[in-house]
Amino acid sequence: MKIMYIVHLTTELAPLAKVGGLGDVVSGLSKGLIEGGVRVEVILPFYDHLDRSQLENLKVEKGEWLFKVYSAQYQGISLILIEPEKPAKSLKRGVIYGEEDDLLRFSYFTNAAMHYLLKAGKHPDVLHVHDWLTSLAPPLYHEIYKSMGLKIGGIVITIHNMKYQGICTPEELSPIGLHRKHLLKQDKMEDHSEPGKLNLLKGGLIYSDFITTVSPTYAIEIQKEEGFGLQSVLIKRKDKLVGILNGIDTSYWNPETDPFLVQNYSPNDELQEIEEGKIKNRKALYAKLKLDYDPAMLFTSISRLAKQKGPEMIKFGIEYVLAKGGQFILLGVAPEPELKNEFYTLAEEYRDNPHVHFHFLFDERLAHLTYAAADCILIPSLFEPCGLTQMIALRYGTIPIVHKVGGLSDTVFDIDHTEIPNEKRNGYTFDCPSNDSLRWSIDRAFEDHKNHPEKWHLMQKNGFHKDWSWKKPAAEYLSLYQKINR
Ligand code: ADP
Repeated sequence: MKIMYIVHLTTELAPLAKVGGLGDVVSGLSKGLIEGGVRVEVILPFYDHLDRSQLENLKVEKGEWLFKVYSAQYQGISLILIEPEKPAKSLKRGVIYGEEDDLLRFSYFTNAAMHYLLKAGKHPDVLHVHDWLTSLAPPLYHEIYKSMGLKIGGIVITIHNMKYQGICTPEELSPIGLHRKHLLKQDKMEDHSEPGKLNLLKGGLIYSDFITTVSPTYAIEIQKEEGFGLQSVLIKRKDKLVGILNGIDTSYWNPETDPFLVQNYSPNDELQEIEEGKIKNRKALYAKLKLDYDPAMLFTSISRLAKQKGPEMIKFGIEYVLAKGGQFILLGVAPEPELKNEFYTLAEEYRDNPHVHFHFLFDERLAHLTYAAADCILIPSLFEPCGLTQMIALRYGTIPIVHKVGGLSDTVFDIDHTEIPNEKRNGYTFDCPSNDSLRWSIDRAFEDHKNHPEKWHLMQKNGFHKDWSWKKPAAEYLSLYQKINR
C-alpha cells in the first residue's frame, strides 16, 4: 500500500515552539501518525528563539527560493524551517505571537511555505493547516499555486479556536498576490462584520476539503454562538465538518518517566505510593518556589490568563480556596494588559501570604512539577475548544474542576452525577459559569478529599487508566485523510 504523505503547516510545535494547545496538537498528532506508518513533514517558521540544540541534522535546503529554508529532525519528526524575507526580521522577535504585524508575519510565512512546496516539487496527499494563522494556504492553493503546478491531494483545516480569525484589508495581502476582487464577497473571504475586509479563517473554511475541530462538542457549539460570526459558513459545510477529540503526548506527559519530576510514579502503583510520589514532588515544588511545605489541599490553574479562560472565576477560586484553608499555585501568562494588571494587583495583595504563589511566566518545567504536586486544577473556561490541561492533570492524578463546555464536556465527568457510569467519573463539572457554581464544586472537592477517599481514589483511578494518547485521534485523522484521497 502507498505510504501516505502529510504536511502540517503550523506556527507552533511543542515543546520546541509552544504558546498553547495548538503546539501540543501538532506534535502529538504528528508522532501518532508517524507511529501509524504515515510520512509526516512539519513546516514551521524558524523563530530566532528556537532551541537549536534540540534540532538534529539541521541543514540548509538548497533550491530556487527567495528565502532561507532549513531541514532538521526533531523528536522523530521531519521539520522544514522557513525564514520568509518579509516583513523584515519577522521571526527575530523573541516571541511567537503578540506583534502588531502578526497577520503579515504569518501570511508571508504561509505564502513562503506554499512557494517552497511548489519549488521543491513536493506533492503531499494532504496539506493540514491550523487556525487562521496558516488558513491562507487553501485560498492560495486554489487561487494561485494549483495553476502553477503544485499538486496537493486535499487540504484539511483544524480549528483550535474560532475566536481568532485574522481580519485585514485586501491591500494588506497584495504583496503576496492575493489582492483579488472576487475574494471580497460574502460567499468567499469577505468578513461578516467588517464589510470591505478579508477574513483569513473564513477563506480556510471555504477552500479546504475538510474542516476539523478539536472536540465533538465544540464542533456543535461553533455552529451556534461559539462560531464568532462564522456559524453560517460552518452550517453550510457541516457535512465536511468533524470534531476529533485531541489526545495528549502520553510519552511526554508521563508521571512514570517525566524528567521534570523529582519522584516518578506509575498509574500501576498502589494509590498510597502515588500519593507519596505526589507529596515528594510537592515538597520539591515548594522548595523551588521558596514556600514552606504545608499539607493543606493544593489547587492550581495552569493557563493563559485570557478572557476565554474565565479569569474572574480563577480569581474568585484563588480567594475562595485560601479562605477555606487550602493553597493555590497559579501558573499563567496574561497577554492582555488589563488582565495582567488585575492579576498583578491580586498577587501584590497576597504578597505575604505563604499559601499562594503567582508565577506569571511560561515555565514548562514548573508546569510538569505542578501537575504532579497539585490535588485539584481549576478550569472555569467560558468556552474551550478542547483543553489539554484537564487531560494532563488526570494523567498525573490531579482532579479537574471544570465548566462543562466544549472539550471539557467530552473529557471530564462529574463524580456525583448519577447517570454517569462509575468508571467514567473523574472530576467535578458545573453547567453555569459563575462564582456560585465554582464555589459549589470547590466545596465538594474539599469535602471528598477529606471525608470520602474512596471517591477521590475512584476519580484518580479513572483518570489514570483512560487512554488519553493520540492513538485513537490519529487513527481518526488518518481515516479522514484516506477519505480525501480515495
Ligand atoms: P490553550 O491552547 O487555549 O492555551 P490548552 O489547555 O489547550 O489551552 O493548552 C494549554 C497548554 O499550555 C498546556 O500544555 C498547558 O500545560 C500549557 N501552559 C499554559 N500556561 C502555561 C504556563 N504559564 N507555563 C507552562 N505551560 C503552560
